[in-house]
Amino acid sequence: MIGLTILGSTGSIGVSTLDVVARHPNQYRAVALTANSDVDGLFRQCQVFLPAYAVMADSDSALELEHRIKAAGLKIDVLAGVGGLEQVAALDQIDYVMAAIVGAAGLLPALAAVEAGKRILLANKEVLVVSGQLFMEAVERSGSVLLPIDSEHNAVFQCMPPGFERGLEPVGVSRILLTASGGPFRQLSRDELIDVTPEQACAHPNWDMGRKISVDSATMMNKGLEVIEACWLFHTRPEQIQVVLHPQSVIHSMVQYVDGSVLAQLGNPDMRTPIAHALAWPQRMASGAVPLDLFDVARLDFELPDTDRFPCLALAYRVIESGGGMPAILNAANEIAVAAFLQRKLKFTDIAGVIEDTLSALPETGSFDLQGLLGLDARARIVAEQKVASLV
Ligand code: NAD
Ligand code: MG
Repeated sequence: MIGLTILGSTGSIGVSTLDVVARHPNQYRAVALTANSDVDGLFRQCQVFLPAYAVMADSDSALELEHRIKAAGLKIDVLAGVGGLEQVAALDQIDYVMAAIVGAAGLLPALAAVEAGKRILLANKEVLVVSGQLFMEAVERSGSVLLPIDSEHNAVFQCMPPGFERGLEPVGVSRILLTASGGPFRQLSRDELIDVTPEQACAHPNWDMGRKISVDSATMMNKGLEVIEACWLFHTRPEQIQVVLHPQSVIHSMVQYVDGSVLAQLGNPDMRTPIAHALAWPQRMASGAVPLDLFDVARLDFELPDTDRFPCLALAYRVIESGGGMPAILNAANEIAVAAFLQRKLKFTDIAGVIEDTLSALPETGSFDLQGLLGLDARARIVAEQKVASLV
């Protein structure tokens, strides 16, 4: 029996993970479940999955959950705060950690899992954007197994040859072709983008996801974050990654080899496929995803991305080149700008401007330790908040 901690169990990835786990009750047990402040959601999951631990990042929510768990006569330890998240990410009785918190808030618990040598299933891409170097060094040091859950990176992982940890050239890979759906606004003009609403941004044509990543998909910052994520996961330079618009979201990404071969991973857009892949790796197991029917898909289209209408993608390429603390600043400014857009305090088309201004205000290209990165993240949030306020 494999013990599992799910960080962010009430979110879109967390719920899909529990769905896969429930299909294999003799192989996997959810030992710890966590959420930010969704007491109802976590309480319901506790009733069904009876974990040993439940953690709420928000301490008032933790008190409320503890009260409800006691009243229901359940034997579950309730913990609170980042300390609680770190604790359940490193428990002796768990083997795997699903890192599915959204944003830089997931960094410390994900690092705790790595440092404890757990297999880490990484959905929380912001962790690699903020602290890629540090995180990959920690993985190397602890011998923990890192498996990507992001569908594109999981696809690339499946198409990569053994030994890719040494870099792409020695294993004959020339490029990574990272596919992108283009999001719900792929065909809108610059003018039409000005007045789009959070509801429109969150109605993704192919994927049902949390609100933050849905807006990131709409601005194409999601693809930018994924380019940075791929650089770290696959020991790649940004110029070896080509973003390919592929509106059907059937090819989840491809790997191009020096002999002319291109390997692709295909499937219906359902996150349970990469989740089941990483849980069972190197074996395979059923995920619940509907099998792909190619005759139903009928055609596959490909286009170049347009960085004029979607400048966030270009900003992401720029910060990888600058290096140092710049990706962490980009991430923090993006989190603030997206939250402001979701609260209708910022126009969709002003998101990129807030990020660009924050990057210009904090030219931190040097390298940072963990405390330095956390400090930089906090400073970037303050600068970005000021930019948002100046636009209201
Ligand atoms: P979501 O918003 O649906 O869920 C986020 C989870 O994190 C929830 O359980 C929430 O309670 C918890 N959380 C939020 N803020 C927190 C905080 N400050 N401290 C502790 N916990 C907190 O998000 P999601 O769509 O499931 O995405 C999770 C991560 O996976 C993101 O990094 C996203 O980019 C990545 N991802 C998601 C998908 C997808 O299909 N949803 C695909 C690829 C990658
Ligand atoms: Mg993705």
